Amino acid sequence: MYIVPEKEIAALVTRKDNFDAVEQVFASMASKSAYNFPVIREAIGHADALYGFKSGFDRAALNLGLKSGGYWPGNAAKGLTNHQSTVFLFDADTGKCRAVVGGNLLTALRTAAAAAVSVAHLARKDSKVLGMIGAGHQATFQLQAVAEQRDFEKVVAWNRTPEKLASLEKVAKELGLPFESVSLDELGAQADVIVTIVSSQAAILKDGQVKPGTHIACMGTDTKGKQEVEAALVARATVFTDEIAQSISIGEAQHAIADGSLKQADIAEIGAVINGDHPGRRSDDEVTLFDGTGVGLQDLAVASKVVDLAIEKGIAIEVDF
Ligand code: NAD
Repeated sequence: MYIVPEKEIAALVTRKDNFDAVEQVFASMASKSAYNFPVIREAIGHADALYGFKSGFDRAALNLGLKSGGYWPGNAAKGLTNHQSTVFLFDADTGKCRAVVGGNLLTALRTAAAAAVSVAHLARKDSKVLGMIGAGHQATFQLQAVAEQRDFEKVVAWNRTPEKLASLEKVAKELGLPFESVSLDELGAQADVIVTIVSSQAAILKDGQVKPGTHIACMGTDTKGKQEVEAALVARATVFTDEIAQSISIGEAQHAIADGSLKQADIAEIGAVINGDHPGRRSDDEVTLFDGTGVGLQDLAVASKVVDLAIEKGIAIEVDF
């Protein structure tokens, strides 16, 4: 069995590795050769923690395993990250544990890769302005991964507390892109691609603020009750997702489904576009929306790549288990 510690991961995988791994697993999910098992999420009644498992099996890539972890709100005071996760991979032929991999950075990388895959397959080719809503932990990863999918000329961004946008501005500068802190009206009027990555319980971006032809990657809503964009915007858009069962229950589509303005049958899996079974964007005026809910198979896909690279580079710690 191999161990790949959290501290080794940043230097091991590239954004292209993560993009390819996530694109492959979305394709496998749509062709039904990979599936996620039911998610377990429990308030454990200790340390205010939320703990759970996301697991699945990709028969094409032979990735079997789970990501275990959750949210410990008191961790920051102890100098630790509040979100904690570890990925366990198993040999699909024998059931033996193949590897234990630090999952904190991988979570951000695989989430950013999902948004990037959606932009690569659904955004207009001539997209020039990238709009970012949110400036928390995930946001800089999102900006880095999405910015390289089109020839963007500018980044416009909004956050509830605008001073937090400094971290995004720094990344935009590193990418050589002009950066502007704007109102939501200005953001919607300018942006050809919008990434929303906030933890909100009410719609931030309104339908009327989004121009025709925009691609929106809604990445922050991963729990019942969360919401980033108005349900009318979801209803107006052509909606794609990683997994339909999650999209309608814990994803951004939950609200439009609940008010009846969107039907489950209107939602397509992004993997169907990757596989060529769905045309994706049909016109330059269409609003496309990717509801990225986050699935365990994404974690297994990037963790498996990390293990392969760590073995290849002699970094993986081998344990007799
Ligand atoms: P964070 O706590 O670091 O940042 C939260 C962000 O949300 C900040 O920009 C904050 O200003 C904003 N925000 C919070 N409440 C708001 C409100 N009421 N109105 C407007 N803005 C508000 O969180 P993070 O780690 O960056 O994660 C962001 C979201 O992404 C969370 O909801 C998280 O659960 C989700 N997430 C999704 C996936 C996935 O696979 N889809 C993976 C990881 C995280």
